[in-house]
Amino acid sequence: MLIKDIFNQKRPVISFEIFPPKKEYPISTIYETIEKLKDLNPDFISVTYGSGGGNRDRTVEIASTIKNNYGIESLAHLTCIASSRNEIQEILHHLKNNGIDNILALRGDLPKDLDSNSCMSYMYAKDLISQIVKMNGFCIGAAAYPEGHIESENLEEDVKYLKEKVDAGADFLITQLFFDNEMFYNFKDLTVKYGINVPITAGILPVLNKSQILRIITLSGASLPKKFIRILDKYEYSPKALFEAGIAYATEQIIDLLSWGVDGIHLYTMNKAEVAIKIIDNISEIKNALNQVNFA
Ligand code: FAD
Repeated sequence: MLIKDIFNQKRPVISFEIFPPKKEYPISTIYETIEKLKDLNPDFISVTYGSGGGNRDRTVEIASTIKNNYGIESLAHLTCIASSRNEIQEILHHLKNNGIDNILALRGDLPKDLDSNSCMSYMYAKDLISQIVKMNGFCIGAAAYPEGHIESENLEEDVKYLKEKVDAGADFLITQLFFDNEMFYNFKDLTVKYGINVPITAGILPVLNKSQILRIITLSGASLPKKFIRILDKYEYSPKALFEAGIAYATEQIIDLLSWGVDGIHLYTMNKAEVAIKIIDNISEIKNALNQVNFA
């Protein structure tokens, strides 16, 4: 099923993100996680893609298994920065042959050794989106950044480029993680200003340890509210307490987003099913109430 049709049928759409295990680990480890996530009835599960293409086969294999063996809709991430147009075309055929209907079309992070003489087939995700559109039949998602992408001059400029991705053919958007919902609401206002009218699902990362979050913040540039920093500082050496506080913080964020009327929640599970289980359990009655209100 196309994810855009899921958004047409229900809101909020609840989805999970997982990543393929590293090559040295058996692929079966991720199936144990998916088995547990399945019981939570997600609307779709997305599978990340290594920007260098290192685990690209695993992305397709896992996305295909989620859909064809577990009966859950899947979303395969695909980055283009390190690939030629022919390579991307091959991957698109591979995805199609494996029954995958939904692609999250991404540029990927710029390679560290990029010099001005590098000849790249793709500059931006919108170029990949245009290529996917030509193939017909895929539903296309794209990435959005509530605080602006780390390379962009400012948020407004980034939103203008986001509109170009939607105009190129993106059917829905998934945001980068954020810890301050006001940033998301401000970003949503800007998307309205620039005429972006596709569903935008909010990416939420439950924080489980301090080093993980500091690494992610460096990569993404997401800002940390004071109350969040207090939690990290207080419980950084008490893993169980930090786990509990991280789940509570993410739950509070999600409840506020749902009350505000967000189109969807995309949970970055970090392959930890127990995190998703706890959070979905925390909002089970809220989900039920929303489904009744929205589609009564
Ligand atoms: P783009 O939309 O192309 O934007 C990149 C930069 O270029 C931005 O600063 C933008 O403002 C600027 N820009 C865009 N168009 C123009 C233009 N016309 N002129 C000038 N500047 C322009 N990475 C992975 O490697 N694998 C994954 O699986 C993965 N999954 C992700 C999932 C989500 C939900 C998100 C939010 C990110 C994910 N990423 C993943 C990270 C992503 O690849 C990086 O953030 C990357 O640096 C940008 O990708 P993009 O598709 O947003 O790029």
